[in-house]
Amino acid sequence: MNLMETIIRIENLIFEYKREEEQEVVRAIDNVSLEIPRGSFTAIIGRNGSGKSTLAKNLNALLLPTSGEIWIDGYNTRDPESLWQVRQRAGMVFQNPDNQLVSSIVEDDVAFGPENLAIPPDEIRIRVDESLKAVGMYEERKKAPHLLSGGQKQRIAIAGVVAMKPQCIILDEPTAMLDPRGRDEVMAIMKKLHQEGITILLITHFMEEAAQAERVIIMDQGRICMDGTPEEIFARSREIRELSLDVPLPVELAEGLRENGIPVPRSIITTEEMVDYLCQLK
Ligand code: ADP
Ligand code: MG
Repeated sequence: MNLMETIIRIENLIFEYKREEEQEVVRAIDNVSLEIPRGSFTAIIGRNGSGKSTLAKNLNALLLPTSGEIWIDGYNTRDPESLWQVRQRAGMVFQNPDNQLVSSIVEDDVAFGPENLAIPPDEIRIRVDESLKAVGMYEERKKAPHLLSGGQKQRIAIAGVVAMKPQCIILDEPTAMLDPRGRDEVMAIMKKLHQEGITILLITHFMEEAAQAERVIIMDQGRICMDGTPEEIFARSREIRELSLDVPLPVELAEGLRENGIPVPRSIITTEEMVDYLCQLK
């Protein structure tokens, strides 16, 4: 697999919402250009209203650019004939799992996406089982989704996307409504899918999740204002706080320790790295 190949290409994207009754225009995306390499794991963060969800919906052709272009694996989202190619390649997972589950049985839910792609029933059967195993929910396949925990429901929603064999998965705050355990479950699945070669684009307001990505993009007022590795981004903690965002807890802890004379390296941004560092001190 060529990791340098671009799977998502955004060129000069502008998106404006028009509120007809007020004749008012809201520019939610203000000239964003971005390339996402195939197989990469990118986190997008930014305060409420910075344009993250609007960007995600443009990637999946739920919204079409006011101006500019988006290509998903070479398919332009504006081209009506490419709609299903785009939707199949760029799967979306949203915040509220309850709004994404449509059937009363888990496995029927996972089959829903591939059925819409007119995939033969035998193939759907195989894909549903594989996808449920991939998210660790195969044992629950006959259950009713409403009986599951939030984290389990979100894993079913992810399985539904995985069953469409997407090249990339865009997740818009998938853990926002989950408890810490559910968040860990979903994060573990994202890492696993990434290791299997799927491109992951994770919108999150949990800095600890962003710290686990390969690349962090910060949006503000419809623009990209920072773009780098987690180490590069979270080293700029003052700028991040000025954007009304938090830094990951281990980064804050490291700053406090440095101020008190303990030379914690700036490369430490995750809990695991902090634990390793503190343990080798003793
Ligand atoms: P985020 O996901 O980062 O919170 P959004 O993409 O939801 O940001 O919103 C970006 C901007 O677009 C905000 O100013 C928001 O108020 C506006 N907006 C979002 N959805 C709509 C809509 N359906 N109609 C009008 N304005 C909207
Ligand atoms: Mg949003």
